[in-house]
Amino acid sequence: MTTSIKKLPDTEQVLSGNGSCGGCPATMALRIVGKALGPNAIMLLTPSCAVASMGMTPKLGYNWPCINICFATAGSSAAGIAHALEIMKEKGRLQGELPTVFSWVGDGGTYDIGFQALSAAAERNDNFIHFCYNNEAYSNTGVQRSGATPRGSYTTTTPAGKRQPKKNMALLMLEHNIPYVATATVAYPGDLYDKVVKAKNIPGMKYIEILAPCYLGWQFDMSETVQMSRMAVRCGAWLLWEAENGKITFNNPTSLIISGKKDPAPVDEYLMKQGRFNRFLKGPDASQRIAEIQNDINLEIAFMRERAKIAV
Ligand code: SF4
Repeated sequence: MTTSIKKLPDTEQVLSGNGSCGGCPATMALRIVGKALGPNAIMLLTPSCAVASMGMTPKLGYNWPCINICFATAGSSAAGIAHALEIMKEKGRLQGELPTVFSWVGDGGTYDIGFQALSAAAERNDNFIHFCYNNEAYSNTGVQRSGATPRGSYTTTTPAGKRQPKKNMALLMLEHNIPYVATATVAYPGDLYDKVVKAKNIPGMKYIEILAPCYLGWQFDMSETVQMSRMAVRCGAWLLWEAENGKITFNNPTSLIISGKKDPAPVDEYLMKQGRFNRFLKGPDASQRIAEIQNDINLEIAFMRERAKIAV
């Protein structure tokens, strides 16, 4: 049974007065992650909105020791910290429970620039949680395309709309045979909370990717962040699933779509709510282009349905 939002702990690790935009999905997600991790954790951040939001010592917006690292090094830096803590514990220099080491990284630092170090850490099964808060672009630097940007989306480097579909990064991480992989998004806070609690108690590498609809890059009203997140799941543009030791389980409402009990909502309404698709969907080819995006979604649903039948 998924934890109700009303039952989430009152404790906060994301403090008020931080510098994120109003309605920021990444900060909402981090708040829930903080409730699940508690204070005994060490946070690593690559350059991103989360760094710009947290402020400067001694007035950090996050209630953990925070380490700013190079863009490409989330995997190697988190692995190094995790190993150092284990050695300190072995040598008796650290008492009590080991802190949870986690990297908090955008899609640029996960899908693109940080992929090599992340892949190596996954292959070694290093003991930390990598969170990717995926806002589907490099939002912090003015919205450039990333490997997570979906087909048709405007960014400053895809002014006519991106022509390629996005990668399935969570699936790529699953194929590294790590013990836990999950996807989540802010409209389903109990689902995210439960996944983080689970990941915290699993040794080895864990990967959790959170869809983070960013009003700035996606061009919608900042009061609609949660609604946009819910719409993404309902139309199948974002699938909620987790895999423990290679076994994939789908979470509601995605499980209803995968099992065929419910049809995904047509993608049109989700696309039309976002200004980033305006240019791509303008003109006489609009319906063909919507069909292309719908096809990307249908293919992913069909692929994940079949992939889930294979347990490693
Ligand atoms: S640009 Fe987007 S992701 Fe970055 S702080 Fe603002 S709302 Fe959050």
